[in-house]
Amino acid sequence: MALIVQKFGGTSVGTPDRIKNVAARALATQAAGNDVVVIVSAMSGETNRLLKLASDMTSLPDSREIDALAATGEQVTAALMAIAIQALGGKARSFLGHQLKVLTDSAFTKARIKAIDATRVMETIASGTIAVVAGFQGVDEEGNITTLGRGGSDTSAVAIAAAIGAAACEIYTDVDGVYTTDPNICKTARKIERISYEEMLELASLGAKVLQIRSVEVAMKYGVPVHVRSSFSDAPGTWVVGEESSLESISVTGVAYDKGEVRVMLVGVDDKPGVVAHIFSRLADENISVDMIIQNAPSDAPMSRVSAGGPDSKTDVTFTATKADLPKVKQVIGEIAEQVSALGIRYDEDIAKVSIVGLGMRSHAGVAAKMFKILSDEGINIQAISTSEIKISCLVATKYTELAVRALHDGFGLGNKP
Ligand code: ADP
Ligand code: ASP
Ligand code: MG
Repeated sequence: MALIVQKFGGTSVGTPDRIKNVAARALATQAAGNDVVVIVSAMSGETNRLLKLASDMTSLPDSREIDALAATGEQVTAALMAIAIQALGGKARSFLGHQLKVLTDSAFTKARIKAIDATRVMETIASGTIAVVAGFQGVDEEGNITTLGRGGSDTSAVAIAAAIGAAACEIYTDVDGVYTTDPNICKTARKIERISYEEMLELASLGAKVLQIRSVEVAMKYGVPVHVRSSFSDAPGTWVVGEESSLESISVTGVAYDKGEVRVMLVGVDDKPGVVAHIFSRLADENISVDMIIQNAPSDAPMSRVSAGGPDSKTDVTFTATKADLPKVKQVIGEIAEQVSALGIRYDEDIAKVSIVGLGMRSHAGVAAKMFKILSDEGINIQAISTSEIKISCLVATKYTELAVRALHDGFGLGNKP
């Protein structure tokens, strides 16, 4: 007898028939002698539909109200799932985030879970009833409805699994596991049987949306074994687990891409202490997350620019942020530019970040050089680079995304061997 959490993503609950299908799966898991807690996402496309309705009202809708709106998607599926289980003869009860409760901070649209009261879930399953929990949503100290960011049902599932001490958290999605790269854009992508939390964390943070980043953070922190698999088959998927020595030997495990960033350039800002600190603390005050940062060497600044900006030396500061945050960036950047005497502001939305990830990079030299060579052989210009111990990311023009991913994937020998 085990305690199993099953999370069903948008595609898996995308139609009434699919809801019936996964209801039967949850019941079968229970019939096999397990206690079952189900977490649901909204039906596929529903969250986008709701967010579009808000942006039809105004370009910058209030984030508290966005959450009140977006959370309704999961309310619908939680109730439908409970009804579907009951219709098949089982016992089920649905719960919203505030009914449990899933307590979060008040960072609307990207709230973090602070605590989960699992009492009602435990009472429910003790009576042989399947607890169905609406993912993606929580409640803050003041009782406001919050949401956990796009893909947040994964985090709801793993956090609830940690809170109730589940033996495993199964993430059911539209692919049958974590692949060496997105199987929807690379035919030679291969399913990975086991991957470490650290590598999964990098892949997720670099754009592999198969798991939300925070879900992997929580799984790693509490040691929750996560099994990513398909709701359309019984085939085993990918286990995301603690680091194992056998995982170390490969230099590159996966390739990820992210088209969701925008590049912002502050041209000709004053080159003196405190300027960069000022720019990024103002962005942080607005809860805008910044990814890559590049500051050009001041000695490169052309004379015309120096004279145009005044007696002091000038430099360019470039950063990337999420496209979702662009309206907020636009709201504050003018004021920041003025404060640091910038000569201009430029935006580029036509960018993508392609990244390679692997624990083995720690011990293999020359991985970066090989990555740059593969991209240059395809004629792809690299606009910015960032690295960590186990990843390298390059910014390229959007039109090269798929080409870059496939070239890197096959160049590092990750593809299916014929
Ligand atoms: P769900 O709605 O079930 O949460 P998502 O759309 O959020 O599903 O995540 C699944 C998708 O993640 C897949 O359809 C696939 O396109 C994408 N994906 C990106 N990178 C990977 C990868 N390395 N392995 C598997 N899927 C990936
Ligand atoms: N429905 C939410 C979204 O589309 C949460 C999720 O699916 O995990 O982002
Ligand atoms: Mg998802």
